[in-house]
Parts: sequence; structure tokens; C-alpha cells
Amino acid sequence: MAKKQFKTESKRILDLMINSIYTHQEIFLRELISNASDAIDKLCYLSLTDDNVKMERSDFKIKLGVSEEERIISVSDNGIGMTKEDLEKNLGVIASSGSLRFKNEMDKTGDASELDIIGQFGVGFYSAFMVSDKVTVITKAYGSETAYKWESEGTDGYTITECEKDSVGTDIIMNIKEDVEESEYTRFLNEMSIGQLVKKYSDFIRWPIVMDGIQYEEVETGELDEDGNPIMTTVEVPAEETINSMVPIWQLPRDEVSKEESDEFYQNTFYDYAPPISTIRVNAEGQVTYKAMIFIPGRAPSNFFSDQFEDGLQLYSSGVMVMDRCKDVIPECFRFVRGIVDSLDFPLNISRETLQHSRQLKIISNNLEKKIKNELIRLMDEEAEEYDKFYESFGTHLKYALCANYGEKKELLRDLMMFYSSREKELIPLREYKEKMPEEQKFIYYVCTSSVLQAENLPQAEQVRDHGYEILYMLDDEDEFVIRALKEHEGIAFCNITTDDLGLETEEDKTQTEKQEEENRELLDFVKETLGESVSDVKLSTKLKTHPVYLTTEGDVSIEMEKYFSVMKNNEMAQGIKAQRVLELNASHEAFKSLSEAFESDKEKAKLLSKLLHSQALLIAGLPLENPSEYTELVCSLF
Ligand code: ADP
Repeated sequence: MAKKQFKTESKRILDLMINSIYTHQEIFLRELISNASDAIDKLCYLSLTDDNVKMERSDFKIKLGVSEEERIISVSDNGIGMTKEDLEKNLGVIASSGSLRFKNEMDKTGDASELDIIGQFGVGFYSAFMVSDKVTVITKAYGSETAYKWESEGTDGYTITECEKDSVGTDIIMNIKEDVEESEYTRFLNEMSIGQLVKKYSDFIRWPIVMDGIQYEEVETGELDEDGNPIMTTVEVPAEETINSMVPIWQLPRDEVSKEESDEFYQNTFYDYAPPISTIRVNAEGQVTYKAMIFIPGRAPSNFFSDQFEDGLQLYSSGVMVMDRCKDVIPECFRFVRGIVDSLDFPLNISRETLQHSRQLKIISNNLEKKIKNELIRLMDEEAEEYDKFYESFGTHLKYALCANYGEKKELLRDLMMFYSSREKELIPLREYKEKMPEEQKFIYYVCTSSVLQAENLPQAEQVRDHGYEILYMLDDEDEFVIRALKEHEGIAFCNITTDDLGLETEEDKTQTEKQEEENRELLDFVKETLGESVSDVKLSTKLKTHPVYLTTEGDVSIEMEKYFSVMKNNEMAQGIKAQRVLELNASHEAFKSLSEAFESDKEKAKLLSKLLHSQALLIAGLPLENPSEYTELVCSLF
């Protein structure tokens, strides 16, 4: 019979498996057991809703077999099985999730770390080829009359033929390779080492993993003793022995689970390279009784900001998974966490629709919301480095979440925000800013900027800095929206140093500036007229000290916001969002005096100087010049 060929990519992975290094080989059993367990989950789930499945929960099991003489290890399950099409689709090409994930990671990281990925990650079914020179899969799908046999000796292809199999489920039969110098495959060929591998990697699997063993039973010999009682004897009877403890990790008491076990469980279940930065255990009793194990990842998966990211927690009811990704049990703002919620209060055969509206889920969600926030605050306080790592990955998400739905979650999330501090030269929480504020300081000062350097040199910042006040640099696009949503922090208003009144001038200063403005009214009008539509007003500044000029705005739209929206080229409405720019001049600067003199004696020169000052203000604000060559000419004309 002609062999079918594996797809090229599958071949490459198979090659890798065949040549895998010694220490990685043992994961093959974990991978096959995990597939078997998934297959049982699927059939068990069906049995909840489909009366045709004549299986009891207690009937399900995974059976391991080992024969040293024949050099065979087998993994059998009575799960959902595979049809002929499933076999083609799942085992012939690299479309299955385990292998696909492996391939994606491999593409990302390059060949160098291929082998590391195997160790941490697993590759699913193909890992059988790490230890076997031939793999046979005998399977009968639920609802199908025919069973099929898939056979392969590695990269030269596979065959699928019809065969006999009594019951629904799958047997994976591996012919274990002969020993070679680098690898003694015989080490797997005994019950003890198979048992150890199950304990090491698959102890928490919720279905019994059994092996044939013997049991000692007391039986009657048929004879009676002097007192007339039957004489008993001990005999060996064949019996299946369950090797795994089957208690899910989240059901075990906290102190019985080591950090290594917990991390490994997370990495294998949720496919992450790295361990979580934090693990939250919840054991709640009350309105809803449930256990939860929540993991905070240290990094965002590559698809986190795309539609492909699937959020939600796994939902279990009495140890049976009822939903793989339940969104309603976790608030949207913390959708990056992974984990499991197990409650006896969830009915087993509940539909997704009913579950969505369940009051219990709402209660759990509220509860988890608090726990996750508290844990993040704890990290911030006690493990700052870990929090920084977390914030780097998920800070943007938290900011969006804070602004979403008109700031619905702003009170929950405000304490988790961090901004760059002019004083500390690093990200700090708002709480820290507030604690260090001198008593007389009225506002929390901030500036929206694209770089620290730009912010450090902003003319408007001078006065604030001279007072010794700290300034928060809003370096990300979303920051300004966050500040607007928050409005204040613990009763102290935010003050944008480029647009708001800094609150630093005395009444006297203000009257003085107003008076000066009146005196220079004609000049200011002249400058406005010269600059036309590019500014909506020209004023004298109360903020400037050593700089001659800067640009501020009036109204709701700031320059940073205009920049933010201008990038959305296809959005007409966004393009229409423009800041109303106001040019402010420093009346005590030499440049202003020259402008004033030119206005009296040489109107052409005054026009030129007005344009120059405006261009400078644009440059300082980090905005493009409308006509850069005109600006260069203007500068040169002064030589
Ligand atoms: P993953 O398990 O991550 O999806 P695998 O390569 O291990 O990737 O398996 C590919 C697919 O083959 C599985 O998704 C499943 O549909 C099917 N499969 C593997 N083993 C079994 C099994 N024992 N019973 C039923 N289906 C299986």
C-alpha cells in the first residue's frame, strides 16, 4: 500500500523528534497521556448532554501497557476516538495545536533554541517518535462503526487502513527504539519507570491512569479449622492499579503543592515558556463555594492585543471541565490572567447561555477582581522588579481598561498605574507622587511628551521645576486619556503644565501680565494676523522664565491628542480633531523686546520675527513645521 507523505513542516518536526536529546525524551508519555485525557474529556462532556453515550463517569480511564520483551509501550484511552478524516487531519499535517504552537515558537526564536522548546513545551503526538521507531494508532471514533489503523515509521510517511476494534477510543502503540550509545531507550521499558514518569508529569490528570498489576486477595481454601471456621489463604489476582493521585492541583491544600509543581502545571496547561510572576489560590465559601487557581503571566502572549487572543478561565464542576474559556468569570480589565475555577455549584450540564447569566459567575468575578488587584498591589510594593516586568507587558492594556466604558473601572485600576517621574527617573505609582508632595503644592503636574529629553527641556516646565515639584512625564499615547479619565487623585487635581494654569502666580503677577497684555494689544494682534489660521490666539505668558516662546492650547483637545488622532489616516472624524493653538510670548525676554522694536520701526522685520518665534514654538512642542525651508531662509536672513 502506498505511503502518504507528511507535509514538509511536519517532516521537519519529526526529524527533530527522532534526533531529540536524551533528557527531553521522557516527555513523550506526558504528551500522549494529555491527549488521551483530552479525548476522554470530550466524550465525557458529550455524555452529559447526549443520552446515546452509554458511559458512566467512572468508566473512563487511560491504560498503560509495557512489555520489555516486545519493546512496546502502549497508551490506551476510551475517549472520543478519531475518524479516518481526523487521523489525516490531526496526525498527518501540522494543523494540530500542540505541533502548530511548537512550530510558531520555533519560527519566532530560530533554530538555535529548538531543543529547549521541546523540553519546556511539548510537541504533542509527534513526541512519540522521540522514543519509537514505529508508532501505530488504532482508533474508533464515537458514533462510527469502523475502526482505523494509522502506522508510521517516521519521516517516510504513514498509512491508514481499516481494522478491528471493539470499543470506542484510541490505542497508541509504540515500538521502542533499540539502545544506541547516546541513548538507552530500554530505560523506559519497565513498569517502575513508567510509573515514575506518570507521577512526575501526569499526577494531576483527573482520569485514572492504570496499569495491570496484581492484587492480593484472601480467599477460602474450602477447608475448615478446628472451630469450624473456613481456612483462608492469600492469592495473587490480576488487578488494575491506578498510578496517579488524580486530585487536581487546585484541589490540593496550598502547602502540598510546591512552586515547581504549580509553575509546571501553569506552563503545560496554558502554554507559556516562563513561569507566572504570581499564583493566587482562592478557597471560597459563602454565597458561592469554589476553588480557584489564578496565574498572572509575566509576559503577554504574542497575540494578546489581537482578536485571536482567547481570554477566560477554565470552568470545572466537581472535577469535570464544563467550559474551556469562560469570559464571564473574570473582569475584562484582568483578561490577561489564566486559571481555573472549580465549583460544585455549577450544574454539570449547564449551557453556555445560562452560565453567562449566572449570578454565581458574577459573584466569583467580583471576588477575583479584588484578589487580583490586591496581588498586583502586593507585587508593586514587595516585588517591584516583577511588577515592572508585568507593567511593561500589560500596562497598555490596563490603561485602555481604565478609560473603557467612561472610566467605569477607574477606581479599581488607578492604584495600578505607573508614570515616569522627573525626579526618580523611573516609573512610579500615583500614590508615591502624592506622598512626596510638599504641603503647599496644589496640583499633580504632568506633561504629555514623546521623550524624556523633550520633557526635560520644555520651557513650561521651568517654573514647576524651580519650585522643586515633581513632574510626571506621560510617555505613552494612552496616558493623557488616563489622566483625563482620572481627573484627580485623592482630591488633588492634575495639572497639564503646557495648557493649564500652574497655580504658581500670585494675583499680583496675574494683574501685571493682564496690564502688559493691554499695553501690547496692537503688537499681539499683529502677530496673530501674521500667523493667520495656524494659531487661534497670541498671548503673553505667565509661565515662561528664560525661554522666549511656547505653544499651548485652549479647549478640550491638546496637541498630544491631535498627534494621536492624526495617525488614524483613514478616519475622517479623527482627522478633524484639531487642537486650538495659542502662542504665548515671554514679555521679559530679549526676543520680545526686538519684536516690539521692529513692530514700531520695521513691520516687515516684525512679520519675519513673528514667524520665526512661531516656528520655534512648534519645534519645542515636537510638531512639524509647515514649511521647513521657509524657516531656514528666515533664520539665514538674520545673518
Ligand atoms: P494537541 O493535542 O496539542 O492538539 P497533538 O499533536 O498532540 O496536538 O494532537 C493532535 C490532535 O490529534 C489532537 O488535537 C486531537 O484532536 C487528536 N488526538 C491526538 N491524540 C488523540 C487521542 N488519544 N484521542 C483522540 N484524538 C486524539
